[in-house]
Amino acid sequence: MRISVAKNDEFIMASKREDLKLITNEGIDSTLNHVLYCPKIPKSLLSVARMQTAGLLITFDKNGVKIHNEGKTVMSGESENNLTTIHFQTNRREINVASRKLNYQLWHQRLGHIGEQEFLELKSKRMFEDIARLDSIKPDEKLCGACIKGKQAWLPFNREKTKEHVKRPLFIVHSDVAGPVTPPTVDDKNYFILFIDQYTHNCVSYLIRRKSDVFNAFKDFVAKSEAKFNLKLVNLYCDNGREYLSNEMKGYFSERGISYHLTVPRTPHLNDVAERMVRTITEKARAMVAGAKLNEKFWGEAVLTATHLVNISPSKALKCSKTPYEMWHDKKPIMKYLKVFGSTVYVHEKVNIGKFDEKSWKGILVGYEPNGYKVWVHEKAKFVVERDVIVDEFDFEKSRPHMGEVLTQVDGQVDEPKEPDLSGLPPVNHNSGRFEETSGEVTDVSSLTSDKENSSPDIEPRRSDRIRELPPTSYEKINTPEDCVLLVKSTLYEIPRTFHEIKFRDDKCQWEEAIKAEIDSLLINETWSLVPKPPGKNIVDCKWIFSIKTDEHGQLAKYKARLVARGFSQEYLTDYDETFAPVARIASFRFILAFANQFNLLIHHMDVKMAFLNGNLKEEIYGCFSENDDFVVHAVFLLPNI
Ligand SMILES: [Zn+2]
Repeated sequence: MRISVAKNDEFIMASKREDLKLITNEGIDSTLNHVLYCPKIPKSLLSVARMQTAGLLITFDKNGVKIHNEGKTVMSGESENNLTTIHFQTNRREINVASRKLNYQLWHQRLGHIGEQEFLELKSKRMFEDIARLDSIKPDEKLCGACIKGKQAWLPFNREKTKEHVKRPLFIVHSDVAGPVTPPTVDDKNYFILFIDQYTHNCVSYLIRRKSDVFNAFKDFVAKSEAKFNLKLVNLYCDNGREYLSNEMKGYFSERGISYHLTVPRTPHLNDVAERMVRTITEKARAMVAGAKLNEKFWGEAVLTATHLVNISPSKALKCSKTPYEMWHDKKPIMKYLKVFGSTVYVHEKVNIGKFDEKSWKGILVGYEPNGYKVWVHEKAKFVVERDVIVDEFDFEKSRPHMGEVLTQVDGQVDEPKEPDLSGLPPVNHNSGRFEETSGEVTDVSSLTSDKENSSPDIEPRRSDRIRELPPTSYEKINTPEDCVLLVKSTLYEIPRTFHEIKFRDDKCQWEEAIKAEIDSLLINETWSLVPKPPGKNIVDCKWIFSIKTDEHGQLAKYKARLVARGFSQEYLTDYDETFAPVARIASFRFILAFANQFNLLIHHMDVKMAFLNGNLKEEIYGCFSENDDFVVHAVFLLPNI
């Protein structure tokens, strides 16, 4: 569909038209009919005239706009700088709300409600392998409600203590136990114990049921970290809690040659490294649970995740430009797997799929495990670890699971707490690419998460005459009176997938021309020659690939068709015995550019419409159009040179 815009003779393309369900900021479920999805429009627009035609009453005043239906206000918006913005929520992923501001909020949440200074430090010191993702993101002034909730218990830190200087990991480890926390976690844990290594500042948390479990957690920490560095743990700093002084614990200390240093009662600041970290992690976890509107029973998962997020955030204690994670693992963390804690995830069922069974189910993202995301599945009342998930960081359901009786069913299936470790995380399912920052659409979607209460696609009411449909009769008309024109990002032009599809299309002629141009060029260049079908030879299937080139305004510029061989129908040692072709390395290009620069040379750049790699074929290759195999193309050579 083509839609004309205010500028003469210019138009934009709408790729589809659908109804859009949404919840207005009045909390009313509504549907916008016949919404047009336009990939190229950076704002979402709502037509006043269309709404009037649909029988809605619209009133503007100096504060903004109110939209009424049958005497009731169903939507409202505020005016600022001659623009009226209406807020609503929808879980449509294509919805377009490009806004840099919101992007910062998204990363703020993904990184466990990271502070502005830390965020800037993380960026400036390039602390992540894929830090480029944050290049265009700047902190904004917006207040985060979850942060305010999470940090209510904030207390000033005692910064007086000077730390002993250490030169290697595991020379000094600080530890502290926090709890009892009520309510207990989903799997009935009341405490968490934290270990923090002074040299790397890396933290490890364990959820434990009772204080007597400290010993087991400590043994696990010692075993894993000593094995990792092949170094002995020398000093443990902890408070005077009885949990560190059990006989078995003391026995273990002397057996392993570990010195323990207890802080004096009522002067906990002496153990302030661990104490402060416990507070930091607790605050983060509280903000994460509040931000995701999760039941408080998920504090344990939030603590484990917050521990990981602290490890991949800048640490004031480290004088270098490394995160604790990098100090501990000797590699930079990767941020592409980070998702907002508490997001809705869709998991694809891999086994026992009956024809009519649900193939995917929904859960809540509650952490990172070495082999995937940790997901809470409410229906099954258990945690699972999944690698192939689609994460919807926008959809924080309005009603989160009520724990209630379901939790009593939880048995011992829950994984033991592990140190969250993103490094081994597999690539996430491609479908989730929609939520990634790599493409324009994605950021837009994710940005909605920043404020669940007030998701805010910007809608500018505009006069309907600015969006009227333009002729070419070959495009679908959009002049039905009920058309609400809301412009939303989506997929690009519809492109034919097969040769057959072309003949049913309005733009058949253009495609046929493109095909003819490709065939002509193959014949002129003597890439192929036409021969009768030889008996007893393997024929390689060929396929047409179509595409549309657009210009810088997103307008259709060119139809393109390419004939490609479906190489997999060749047989090894019959049609081919090598599976590589020479290509230029990017390093070679760089060298040429550098060389030209050094000697002040001019580089001449040319474009070749049909380029072939130089390769002489010894074999005889026959190809055919799958759609029409009455004749066969016979090729002896590819072209000798470009
Ligand atoms: Zn926050």
